[in-house]
Order: sequence, then structure tokens, then C-alpha cells
Amino acid sequence: MQDQALAPGLYLVATPIGNLDDITLRALRVLTQADKIACEDTRQTQKLLNHFAIATPTISYHLFNEAARAQELLAELKAGARIAIVSDAGTPGIADPGGQLAQAAIRAGIAVSPIPGANAAISALIASGLSAETFTYHGFLESKSGARRTQLEALPRGPHTHLFYETPHRILEALSDVASLFGDQQHVVVARELTKLHEEFLRGTVLEVRGMLAARTQVRGEMVLLFQLPPEERAPQTQSIAAAVEELARLEGIPEKDALKRIARERNVSKSDAYRELQREQAKLKR
Ligand code: SAM
Repeated sequence: MQDQALAPGLYLVATPIGNLDDITLRALRVLTQADKIACEDTRQTQKLLNHFAIATPTISYHLFNEAARAQELLAELKAGARIAIVSDAGTPGIADPGGQLAQAAIRAGIAVSPIPGANAAISALIASGLSAETFTYHGFLESKSGARRTQLEALPRGPHTHLFYETPHRILEALSDVASLFGDQQHVVVARELTKLHEEFLRGTVLEVRGMLAARTQVRGEMVLLFQLPPEERAPQTQSIAAAVEELARLEGIPEKDALKRIARERNVSKSDAYRELQREQAKLKR
């Protein structure tokens, strides 16, 4: 480990996403020598610091006090402090706090240094089997089905890997949306519990991967969802609900309410989901 003194400035320090061995020597040095560590959750970070016998004082820095705390930390940085910022796990600023303070520090002319290390998206990508040549990290998928489907529909097609953070209680719904928009045979990868004891990569068609997860008593763990979409012309086109309703009215004279019921049954979705999707499509047409 290099033993030079730590220069004043802000250090964005990556910490492990599960396996404590993934801390870097440089991260340990910076965390030891910093005047203060700003943490997303001080109790969580204290476990890491105890493990590595680091006694640096900590303060909380999270979504709810980010703006106010940033001002305080900025004043200390201007006075020459060395401040490390860490999130609960992984790289600060990536779906985690850190970005606002980094921007404010840069504007104030303070040195900002990355201390690279673990990150769930990049770890998932490199072992996914999908191309890492061009990829987009999208952060968390939208939580509501309508917004999620709009987000998925807007993704560019072709040889490009898309990465999403997802939670265990929403992954099945998210995979259903992927299947209904891009077809049951769409290839996906779910990277679960990376670097931890139960690390696993589920690879296959969206139907297979969803089936593997749905067969479990409970879907648990942290996960990243990855896929590439086929080029536009080969993408399976699912008829919109609005078009299907209109077709049933035109060809068979079925009223909208009954048409919706039939479509929901055929597509294996609830009537309320089919209705919400119809409203979403109609709103999109009006825009
Ligand atoms: N800053 C973190 C990073 O650099 O990856 C991400 C923090 S974000 C609040 C937490 C999300 O990251 C989880 O919901 C999950 O999608 C993903 N994640 C974090 N750790 C993971 C792991 N060990 N395995 C798979 N996904 C993980």
C-alpha cells in the first residue's frame, strides 16, 4: 500500500457489493486517512469500517439530507478537508447518493477523485454473455407497469446491451412486460446476488427465466436485468390493445368492454391491466 499523505479533496470511494474482499487497497487507505466519511447509512458503513479496523469518523449523507449536508461538507472541503463519500454498497453516485456533492465540489474548484471498485451493473455485464461493446445502464426500471412499458418501448433496437437494476418484488412483472412487448423468445439475463454466496446468472428466453424465478417460493436477492433487442424489422409486433379492440368492434361488432375482457383473457392479463394499457395507448395517441 502506498503510504503518501492524502491530499485535500473529495473522494468517491467504491465499496463491496457483497463480498468484503472486493474492497481495494486504495479504498482502505483513503477511508483510513480521510478526515471524515460521509455515508448513505452510517450503521451499514460502520460494519465495513469495523471489519477493516478503520476508526475515521462518519456522518450521514443520504437522499433526504443530501442538499443541506452538501453545503456543510462543501464548507469543510473549501477549508482543506479530505472527505470520503461511500454508499451502502458499490459505487457512489450510481443509483446512490454522491453525484450532487461531486457536482457542487467541482463547481467550487475542489479536487474530486474516483476510487474505483465494485459496481453491480458492470459486474453483471461482463459475465452476462451479452456484448459489452456498446451498452446502456438505465438505473432502476420504472416501478409502475404503464411507465415501465413506455420506458421499454422507447429502447433502441439492435446490437446494444440494456442494463436495469430491479428489485425482487417487481422482477416477475418486469419480465412479463418484456415478454409481452418483445415476445416470449426474447433472450434475457438476470444476474442475482453478485459476489455473494448465492451468486447466480439466469440466462435464457424471458419465458424460461421468468418460469425459473416464478417456481421459487420467494424471489429474493439483489438483481440486474440485461438484454439486447432484435433489430427493428425482426422485432415481433404485438398488436396494441386499442387496435385489437377496434378490430373486434369492426369485424365482429363487439362493444369495447366485452372486447377488452376477451383480449385480457387471450393475453393472460387482468382486465384492469388491459384497461390501463388501453388508456395509456390512447393517451399516447393524443400527445
Ligand atoms: N451503487 C450501487 C452500484 O454501484 O452497483 C447500486 C446501488 S442501487 C441502490 C442497488 C441496486 O443495485 C439493487 O437493487 C440491484 O439492482 C443492484 N445490486 C446491488 N448489489 C447487487 C448484487 N450484489 N447483485 C446484483 N445486483 C446488485
